[in-house]
Amino acid sequence: MATITLTHIKTAFDRAADVFDGKVSAAVAAKQLNLNTGLNESSAKDFFAQYRRMLQGEVFKRSLSAEALQYFLPRILATRGRDAADRALSATWQHIAYYESLGGTHLNRLRSVATNFQSSLPGTLSAQVINAAFEASVAKSQNDSAVERKARLAATNPVPTTQTVTATVFRRNADVVAEVLARANGICEGCKELAPFKRRSDNSPFLEVHHRKPLADGGHDTVENAIALCPNCHRKAHYG
Ligand SMILES: [Zn+2]
Ligand SMILES: [Zn+2]
Repeated sequence: MATITLTHIKTAFDRAADVFDGKVSAAVAAKQLNLNTGLNESSAKDFFAQYRRMLQGEVFKRSLSAEALQYFLPRILATRGRDAADRALSATWQHIAYYESLGGTHLNRLRSVATNFQSSLPGTLSAQVINAAFEASVAKSQNDSAVERKARLAATNPVPTTQTVTATVFRRNADVVAEVLARANGICEGCKELAPFKRRSDNSPFLEVHHRKPLADGGHDTVENAIALCPNCHRKAHYG
């Protein structure tokens, strides 16, 4: 594979922003980058996709170099603001967790770029970042040997500490939840089985109202976009 220079990374970052903003198509921008800088088109398109995923706070699966990450994260903060930086960081941790869960590899350089950026951010981190970083830590621990893990466990204070995070949540419509639960009538609308248990508090069947198209992706908070699921089906809808 041809070497990717810092100039490639910087130019690709700017073009990725243009693609994200709809100013140019990925195909055209990739072609131009190739003509102007020699970066190959598929690498250019990978950068565009990684940038998009980062701004959306979603996992990206093609590998990204530590150099590129080191440039992307602070530039996203500078050009798109703090919320976007948190989403980009969350996407990065999800990427690290994804890669490390494939087994064997430790993405130590990416980890240190992400960790340094995270500690440089002023103010309170989002719950999303903390959760994604934790999942990445779990992936790392699973890759370590049982001996290493047990040595750490033996040396760790068992009393958990706390930290404060920010959480941005959608204001949901209670009528949608009530209406969908009435429609389901105690039966999971995914697997069509009875709710697995009843709530101790009020004896109502335990089903959760899930949005088919997530609110975060522009889904509407409507009865039509919602479905009542048992905990199994709900987890599967998110992680399956
Ligand atoms: Zn179900
Ligand atoms: Zn859900």
